[in-house]
Amino acid sequence: MSTSPSLVCKPTHEFSQILLKVEAVQPSGSFKSRGIGNYLVKSLEQIPTDQRERVHFYSSSGGNAGLACVHAAVTLGLPASVVVPTATKAMMVVKIRAAGAKDVIQHGASWFEADTYLRQTVMVAAEQRGEIAIHVPPFDHPAIWQGAASLIHEAASQVKTAGFNVPDVIVCSVGGGGLLNGVMEGMKDVGWNDTTVLALETKGADSLNASMQAGEHVRMPSVTSEATSLGASKVSEQTYKLATMSGRVKSHVFTDAEAAMGCWRLADDDRLLVELACGVNAAVCYGGRLQKALGRAVKPDETVMIIICGGSGVTIDMLTEWRHRFGSEVEAADAQEQKIVPSALSGPSMAQ
Ligand SMILES: *Cc1c(COP(=O)(O)O)cnc(C)c1O
Repeated sequence: MSTSPSLVCKPTHEFSQILLKVEAVQPSGSFKSRGIGNYLVKSLEQIPTDQRERVHFYSSSGGNAGLACVHAAVTLGLPASVVVPTATKAMMVVKIRAAGAKDVIQHGASWFEADTYLRQTVMVAAEQRGEIAIHVPPFDHPAIWQGAASLIHEAASQVKTAGFNVPDVIVCSVGGGGLLNGVMEGMKDVGWNDTTVLALETKGADSLNASMQAGEHVRMPSVTSEATSLGASKVSEQTYKLATMSGRVKSHVFTDAEAAMGCWRLADDDRLLVELACGVNAAVCYGGRLQKALGRAVKPDETVMIIICGGSGVTIDMLTEWRHRFGSEVEAADAQEQKIVPSALSGPSMAQ
């Protein structure tokens, strides 16, 4: 895990201060290095020192959690292997291999099948060979939340050093909710007691929003959003509890088109390449979406910290394809409000 820069950005003139917490620069390309890195360290501490060389970490994520697991294991000088569903993009398989995975096995039509094969076949065989096989979950573990909380500890000291105000709003996307749990834990640690967390999801990956609407902790029948990193069909119990009982979490859902818009505008305005799961957060900077998502006016003196959670599942070609497919849907509607930012002029539909 690395320190990430907190920086001021004025992509719109709607608010006085927008701070971007740029987790895209983490070793694995996303904030997941924090939580999963901590999980690996904490699991290793449970193993007697003279046994640790037998440890092998196992993940069933073909996404950023798998990448974070491999990066952290390599840093610790230990092996990590990943089982991913067959539908996992070749690019992600290559990234996980390039990061130094001992093995990447493609198996199963779904994440559930890949994970079952990992636990019941791959890890069992590993134990028989004499390894200490440690399963690495993507989001649902206190050590993962504790690691993610370091993002807020770090932001609090950066805010102090730079003389910024404590954020009134923190913008945070939600998949299984590991990030949100960590953010809430970190806020408690640093005494950010009046900050609202805006929990964002994409339509079709909106498992937290669906639970809040239903008034019970539900599982979605299927995930249809292209923002696959947000595609947990059910959020963690802790996330549901925090979102419904803290009085501090506001949930909102944007479309995949709006998340994609956040991605291409972040690239053009701030030179950052991130995946849809992160673009959904950046989308609040444009077209009055922060107000819409919060369901209230935003005062000019409010400070908003956006977690640029990052993600490796993106290429420049994907950005271009999204902009062609979704551009007219979102940019035309936002056009009058956006005269002042570069991305208002750089798209195909906006070309001057
Ligand atoms: C995993 C991930 C999320 C969601 O995090 P959860 O802890 O599952 O809620 C958001 N953005 C990116 C880039 C991710 O990799």
